Amino acid sequence: MICNQCPRKCNTERTEKGFGFCGVGELPKIARAALHFDEEPPISGTRGAGTIFFSGCNLRCVFCQNYAISEEHHGVVITPYQLSEEYRRLEASGAQNIEFVTPSHYVNAILESLTYYQPRLPLIWNSSGYDSIDTLKRLEGVIDIYLPDFKYSDNALARRLSHCGDYVETAAAAIDEMLRQQPEIKIENDVMQRGVIIRHLVLPSHTKNSIGVLETIARRWNGSEKTENGTRALVSLMAQYMPAGKAADYPEINRKLTKREYHKVLNKYMELNLDGFAQELDSSDKKYVPEWNYDN
Ligand code: SF4
Repeated sequence: MICNQCPRKCNTERTEKGFGFCGVGELPKIARAALHFDEEPPISGTRGAGTIFFSGCNLRCVFCQNYAISEEHHGVVITPYQLSEEYRRLEASGAQNIEFVTPSHYVNAILESLTYYQPRLPLIWNSSGYDSIDTLKRLEGVIDIYLPDFKYSDNALARRLSHCGDYVETAAAAIDEMLRQQPEIKIENDVMQRGVIIRHLVLPSHTKNSIGVLETIARRWNGSEKTENGTRALVSLMAQYMPAGKAADYPEINRKLTKREYHKVLNKYMELNLDGFAQELDSSDKKYVPEWNYDN
């Protein structure tokens, strides 16, 4: 199959002879499938999210904490049927949902896997936000919770750190589509059943970018007043940045966030009256990077 399923539109075969920008073949490559307790409270719940980390990435941020899987492609290739068996296993072990992490380049395999087994749990699409509308439309009625990043308000910065100069408008349109599909937040017994949570990771030296992101979120999708399109998402502000991947080549991000930087962004979050979650600054620790230990 010639792949154009994400906004990169590589128009290339994904075979052993060569891949597109995401760097992996069409069959899902898995780096971890396990209960995960470090997500937002209504995602992890008390029993854990059933989180499946996919290898490869269509954004490939230079600072990625999961560099071993996004760039180095650590993991095991499995079939869509084997992927469906992971849903069964996670469900049996008590998972509160099935969470697909960095799934944008595996949409075909994920949709096929769900024809073999449909878990009786909410399904979560945890992506970089760099998703195409056509692909998202194929997920309508399938995905219950969207958990996209909204990383940048500045396309020049997106180009420098994530190789894409159209991130802002592309991710914003993707989030509009996610909210069209899931316009209401539903939480039962402290566990999210459907809706949208928008994540933003604050980067060192780039508080202006973060403030622009929060202002866009407030205007479009959250805030105390009715938003432009009448929809509403929760917002998750993340402080867990630590230099990883190729961050050493980018001096301004080759350190952790300072307290001053994070509080500046957090104050804006409060001022805009955003509704959701904000991490503690001490969330920046290697212990939060999962082990890539998938062994089928
Ligand atoms: S999914 Fe991969 S190969 Fe396909 S368009 Fe996106 S980056 Fe290119």
